[in-house]
Amino acid sequence: MKQFDCLIIGAGPCGIGAAIKLKEAGVNFAIIDGSTPGGKVNIAPRVDNYPGFKEIPGPDLAFKLFERLMNAGISITGDTIVSLEKDGDLFKATGEYDTYVSKCVLLACGTKERKLELPNEDRLFGHGLSYCALCDGHFFKDQVVAVIGGGNAALKEAIHLAHIVKKLYVIHRRNEFRGSNNLVEELKAMDNVEIITPYIPVEILGDENKLTGLVIQNRETEEKRTLVLDGLFPLVGQLPNTTFIKIDGILNEWGTIPVDKEMKSGVDGIYAGGDVLPRDIRQIYLAEHDGMVAAKSIINYLNK
Ligand SMILES: Cc1cc2nc3c(=O)[nH]c(=O)nc-3n(C[C@H](O)[C@H](O)[C@H](O)COP(=O)(O)OP(=O)(O)OC[C@H]3O[C@@H](n4cnc5c(N)ncnc54)[C@H](O)[C@@H]3O)c2cc1C
Repeated sequence: MKQFDCLIIGAGPCGIGAAIKLKEAGVNFAIIDGSTPGGKVNIAPRVDNYPGFKEIPGPDLAFKLFERLMNAGISITGDTIVSLEKDGDLFKATGEYDTYVSKCVLLACGTKERKLELPNEDRLFGHGLSYCALCDGHFFKDQVVAVIGGGNAALKEAIHLAHIVKKLYVIHRRNEFRGSNNLVEELKAMDNVEIITPYIPVEILGDENKLTGLVIQNRETEEKRTLVLDGLFPLVGQLPNTTFIKIDGILNEWGTIPVDKEMKSGVDGIYAGGDVLPRDIRQIYLAEHDGMVAAKSIINYLNK
């Protein structure tokens, strides 16, 4: 068991922003992540609104964030937290490898991809079905692929895929996209892209080994269409990474974490920031900002 004054769970932009401030203040803390430092930035094909860069590939920016940690002399503890509980006046985070006890916690644990919740989805994951175009797009060079979704992340991943595949269908449940007009126009201008609205997926088709297609249905006319596919990327939103939190009073009914302007949750000593908050806009600079505000509040809390 390891003891700290503060635990940061998640080394995405929020956790990294906080870690740098806590280090400057000399706080005894650990920053824990079960995956690649930089969080979701690693899978953003193109970041075009991060201050200081006109445009930068997500993995390059994630590496720069990681370098900031290294330059500040901060190392990341590689572990996935499976449970966070109260332990007297302290908090106890149980990881897959170790247990961590601390006076306060910053939840910077972001989100994961929402599933379609259709039969065959889990079985065909990794066999033609993927939730990350940047990670898996290259497997579909010159093939036929569909993206489902209409937000900015889905549109960016679709543009990335359209440069690789022979034919790309973009399926969205509404006639209007939630994502920005620029991205929609960029997609529409690509010769190999067919946008299909207002359709929803109703059946994922596959043989024993591989995804083979998708049945979609028009929400207005109920007409069905079958698309023959090599690959499918459902990009229909995010769910908060909060199921490991076993303390009452932190989560709202959607599993996200409401906070006040100092990033304090409903439980004394628990702070949160970044994509795990209930908010419509999820952005790197917002997550970093939250991390820094949370760090300042944590320093005040520990000094009390
Ligand atoms: C395809 C795509 C494109 C995007 N494009 C842009 C863009 O152009 N501009 C922009 O500003 N934003 C963009 N975003 C959004 C941006 O990436 C996020 O807003 C930002 O990364 C949120 O930071 P975060 O620190 O809150 O969470 P994340 O980046 O999600 O980091 C959370 C971290 O917590 C870790 N974690 C979670 N649970 C646990 C646990 N139980 N134990 C240990 N570790 C855990 C995860 O492994 C992860 O590393 C994009 C996102 C996607 C998916």
